[in-house]
Amino acid sequence: MKQLDVKLMHPRVQITKVISRIYKNGMTTTSGGNISILDENGDIWVTPSAIDKGTLTEKDIICVKKDGTIVGDHKPSSEFPFHKAIYEVRPDIKAVIHAHPPALVSYSIVREIPNTNIIPQAREICGAIGYAPYGMPGSEELGEKIAAEFDGKDNMAVIMENHGTVLGGSDLLDAYTRFETLEFCARTIINASAIGTPTYLNDEQINEFGKQIPHDIAHNESVAYPPEEREIRQNICSIVRRACDQGMMISSYGTVSVRWKDNDFLITPPNVARWDIMPEDIVQIKGGKAEPGKTPSRAFELHQKIYEQNPHINSIILTQPPHLMAYGTTGVKFDVRTIPESWIFLQDVPCVPFGTHFKGNDTIPELLSESVPAVLIANDSFIVTGDKLLQTFDRLEVAEFSAKSLVMGAPLGELKPINDEQIEDLRKNFLG
Ligand code: 13P
Ligand code: ZN
Repeated sequence: MKQLDVKLMHPRVQITKVISRIYKNGMTTTSGGNISILDENGDIWVTPSAIDKGTLTEKDIICVKKDGTIVGDHKPSSEFPFHKAIYEVRPDIKAVIHAHPPALVSYSIVREIPNTNIIPQAREICGAIGYAPYGMPGSEELGEKIAAEFDGKDNMAVIMENHGTVLGGSDLLDAYTRFETLEFCARTIINASAIGTPTYLNDEQINEFGKQIPHDIAHNESVAYPPEEREIRQNICSIVRRACDQGMMISSYGTVSVRWKDNDFLITPPNVARWDIMPEDIVQIKGGKAEPGKTPSRAFELHQKIYEQNPHINSIILTQPPHLMAYGTTGVKFDVRTIPESWIFLQDVPCVPFGTHFKGNDTIPELLSESVPAVLIANDSFIVTGDKLLQTFDRLEVAEFSAKSLVMGAPLGELKPINDEQIEDLRKNFLG
């Protein structure tokens, strides 16, 4: 079976799946938000109005026919007017998501648009963003104000003044990926602003990142899938999903790899929605060459070099959790001398400049060691290594929790770190 092919799912199924994911991830309330899909017949499938978003089922979804007839057990969303208005002005948009996720609402109420140049993927995925003036919820007037921000413009997302956000997509997965990415981008900037001043990439740096997708990968001619290789695929998929559940990975980013034997390994591909990743999406790298017909993550050469130069490393996770990235976007030192667990698991975490992870640069493979298991890459990601995949994942969790405690602690007062003597005692006791 191929990775979840949303286009082949009935609009009712797609909407139910996506709204429940948004709700479970704390990006909408029971009452807030709505989703729609415009199908090939010109009919619009939409969430019902004022029905619990946490428990919607397929039969709750409403169809508003092209001629205006309503089919379903409830009233369609009260915001149907702006969904319809967006489809009318933008034939490239086939799905719309509206919600009130906390970080984007912060932007909505300070009346600003998040600067997505904070992380390359955010800029690539979110595209241009507009800002629509306030309008009465559910009114035709609000519909006109929002449609005006999509009409004749490149905007794929709009921040709604004192309300929330609305995003379009070529299909629902595209809209959902943009929604999640924009909310995480906003969380990163807000967290960064709590501890320092965020720095942004220029367009040239973002274009440079865009060119990193490997186009000239050598492929093996044949491939074998022994049971231990298949087991690694399964483990990678379950860790990717777990990282999504823990708010440390989203559809659009995150790379996981596991050494299989010698310097051969398995790695996640680019452009696959992480939530729905399947064992057959994982790419086998053998003798430096990829599995036939598959493209590995753009970071695969970095992973290859890390395995070659660090025999003690057997798994790697690279991702962009929104508290760790506060440190990765401000230049503020991520000091893990907070609690024993953090220091024991992470020791010291250096931050290297953006671009250090690009093809041909050996800085990160050389920097990593038994005492430097993780590195922050400025405006890009957090890379963490370990022996077993679960150990690496645990380190990722400890790192993101530590960063969260530091960000949350910032308004309370200054960090009082564990002192040098206490660190030496920890070293003797736990790392001896
Ligand atoms: P509905 O429940 O009518 O879709 O309304 C939710 C909302 O967010 C209104 O702006
Ligand atoms: Zn709303």
